[in-house]
Amino acid sequence: MLRGLMQERPLLVSSLIEHAARCHPQAEIVSRTSEGPLHRCTYADICRRSRQVANALTALGVVPGERIATLAWNGYRHMELYYGVSGMGAVLHTINPRLFPEQIEYIVRHAEDQFLFFDLGFIPLVEKLAQAVPGVRGFVVMTDRAHLPVCDIPGLLCYEDLLGAASDAYDWPQFDEHTASSLCYTSGTTGNPKGVLYSHRSSVLHAWAACAVDGLAIGVAETLLLVVPMFHVNAWGMPYAGAMSGARLVMPGPALDGKSVYELLRDEQVTLALGVPTVWRMLLQHVDGAGLKPRDELCLRRVVIGGSSAPRAMTEAFANTFGAFVVHAWGMTEMSPVGTVCNLLPKHEDYTFEQRLDIQEKQGRAVYGVEMKIVDDQGERLPQDGQAAGHLLVRGPWITSGYYRDEGGGIVDADGFFDTGDVATIDLDGYLQITDRSKDVIKSGGEWISSIALENAAVAHPAVAEAAVIGAAHDKWQERPLLVVVRKPGEALTRETMLEFLQGRVANWWIPDDVAFVDELPHTATGKLHKLRLREMFKDYRLPSA
Ligand code: AMP
Repeated sequence: MLRGLMQERPLLVSSLIEHAARCHPQAEIVSRTSEGPLHRCTYADICRRSRQVANALTALGVVPGERIATLAWNGYRHMELYYGVSGMGAVLHTINPRLFPEQIEYIVRHAEDQFLFFDLGFIPLVEKLAQAVPGVRGFVVMTDRAHLPVCDIPGLLCYEDLLGAASDAYDWPQFDEHTASSLCYTSGTTGNPKGVLYSHRSSVLHAWAACAVDGLAIGVAETLLLVVPMFHVNAWGMPYAGAMSGARLVMPGPALDGKSVYELLRDEQVTLALGVPTVWRMLLQHVDGAGLKPRDELCLRRVVIGGSSAPRAMTEAFANTFGAFVVHAWGMTEMSPVGTVCNLLPKHEDYTFEQRLDIQEKQGRAVYGVEMKIVDDQGERLPQDGQAAGHLLVRGPWITSGYYRDEGGGIVDADGFFDTGDVATIDLDGYLQITDRSKDVIKSGGEWISSIALENAAVAHPAVAEAAVIGAAHDKWQERPLLVVVRKPGEALTRETMLEFLQGRVANWWIPDDVAFVDELPHTATGKLHKLRLREMFKDYRLPSA
């Protein structure tokens, strides 16, 4: 082999923010703060202050490799920690505040976090947590002295005081790009959460893929609303992609209700918003209820939806009411997270609106860097014909090779593929369609029924706010689908009308055997339907047909 002669500059997270400070110094970061008002700063400010973070951590005795935790919403201070902590060689451990307190306690201990930075709103949580995690050397509240609360947290430090005492002169260390940069735990609906440990290299490569035109097409002309939280999979890598591209970033802080999100979209002239279906459902309901005219008031061009399947009805609503194109995307914590993105191909330009919606229901095509295969129960590859549904396995440079501290043991097969736990089809053009989690497929008479397809068909009914489908035991068929529906306020939808609506929208033998109505559905800490809890709720339920 002949070694190439190109420069070996490591791909480090710090290089992103230095690039942004050099090339997009005035591009803006707008944050809704825990203190109340909107805060505006630039990439140059974030770079300067992240150097202060690095100096402040050094002064606190933090050394490379140590884990520094955050319990924080999306905002500029959180972004400074993204760069300051990882840039100095320590590991940023973002904690999902929606996990149960016992789970948070578990992961702080498991990660052996040394310091914990937190937003004002999490004081009650941290007051309890502090007693249970003696290994944490200090707690830093992310505010200034004027807003410093009176609270029961030993050795409480103030973020702005720490930065105020730190120089903004700092030379980012250069080290192996495979060094860990951040840590995020999965939501752990069964068993303890498991840690996914990202590296500098994986984070930079992933950001590049996200910026690419056939990725999420992030560029300097975009204003991004990061509804997707920075405590879950690094907000889909957007704080890195933003610095790489110079895109203007808008951070909603703790206010994720429909009204607050709408106001930010309007007032900050957002062009691209990213989030999970749960948040978009709240936004659409707000727009509906308040009789707003987003087409006239907003310049939103695209909405990236991932984390759960984007129902056709939602994609249609964004197109009709907002004039915005839904970019459906799929990924997972273990994948940094982007795996596939649903952009259209040139041949789809001639398609009708309905035909395009058919494509947009799919989760899209793999971005370069992600290899996918679908296999049967025996691990044999299945054809990529858009019909055969199988276990989805992936490999690539931003996909995990194992969980932190080896929880769960070996998780890749002999060829290095990681089993996503999802069941999917892949069509001839390479479009992936997720049909289920493997634990959630409904096995009816030896055939699989897709709960996701049924749920998306049900939410197309105008009286349905949310729907979930689980398998219920059946003597003859083993399992049959039970549809659980939350009605929109004031709607009097009946079982019969619901089932009738599904006729012709899904295969006849998929039509659920029964419909149950509930006031709300259980969700996980990342906003997904909590099927395990739903199955527990209906464990004594008997289908009328069973
Ligand atoms: P998380 O690691 O919490 O981000 O969850 C990852 C899981 O969310 C995936 O394995 C899928 O089951 C699910 N998921 C993510 N995006 C989508 C999508 N667009 N459609 C359906 N399921 C999705």
